[in-house]
Amino acid sequence: MKNGKRVLITGGSKGIGAQAVRQFSKAGYEVFFTYNKSESAAMDIAQETGAVALKADVSVRCEVDSAIEKAGGVDVLINNAGISQFALFTDITQSDWDRMIAVNLTGAFNCTQAVLPHMIHQKSGRIINISSMWGEVGAACEVHYSAAKAGLIGMTRALAKELGPSGITVNCITPGVIDTEMNSALDKETLDSLAKDTPMGRIGDPEDVVSAMLYLASDSASFITGQILGVSGGFVI
Ligand code: NAD
Repeated sequence: MKNGKRVLITGGSKGIGAQAVRQFSKAGYEVFFTYNKSESAAMDIAQETGAVALKADVSVRCEVDSAIEKAGGVDVLINNAGISQFALFTDITQSDWDRMIAVNLTGAFNCTQAVLPHMIHQKSGRIINISSMWGEVGAACEVHYSAAKAGLIGMTRALAKELGPSGITVNCITPGVIDTEMNSALDKETLDSLAKDTPMGRIGDPEDVVSAMLYLASDSASFITGQILGVSGGFVI
């Protein structure tokens, strides 16, 4: 059954975002999602769920604006699109750095600014930013990723203060190691050792993160804003 709410999920063609498209659709939301390059995966998810796929690179403001214009006003925005890269700090090029910030941090800025006029007008809305536990504690060989994700945490806290009076909550999820393509470079031995270092004894599934998104988007979370919710099986406490 439809719940009358509209959600926009960025980066919905793969991984955590694709699972969010599935579960928000099942929960009765009208779902819109963006994809960048994975057109055929996006079309498959759209067909499977009935959600609407919109092409937009989140780092390009005019593409974001045109996708959001097509979606119309949304009640919930999930800033999920992201990229990662393993590299020694001394090997990170200027363009690696710029791209990491452009997608992971400026992307959230672009999408949030684009959906806000409608949310402010209706005096309600939910913004959910997908950061990372590395944004909280930092990861070696992922300094640019950690910096972008830490920026998202700062943006969440500051924006929550600014938008509370408009009835809009802004929260952030910091996933731990989640089983998606983003971690496809890690071999089985590394994944097993990460699972062993996790108090809950396993790495996470996209569903673990989406459950937290559904909660933060729900009416039950209407008095929760500016919070950073770790979904890491206790890896970071
Ligand atoms: P993924 O690589 O499977 O999916 C990333 C998604 O972002 C894809 O749909 C991709 O198309 C989209 N995307 C990338 N660049 C884009 C751009 N410029 N414009 C629009 N879309 C773009 O990764 P995932 O694991 O599903 O990651 C989802 C989010 O969760 C990311 O923000 C990631 O940083 C965060 N995260 C993931 C993990 C993990 O272990 N997988 C841990 C912590 C945080």
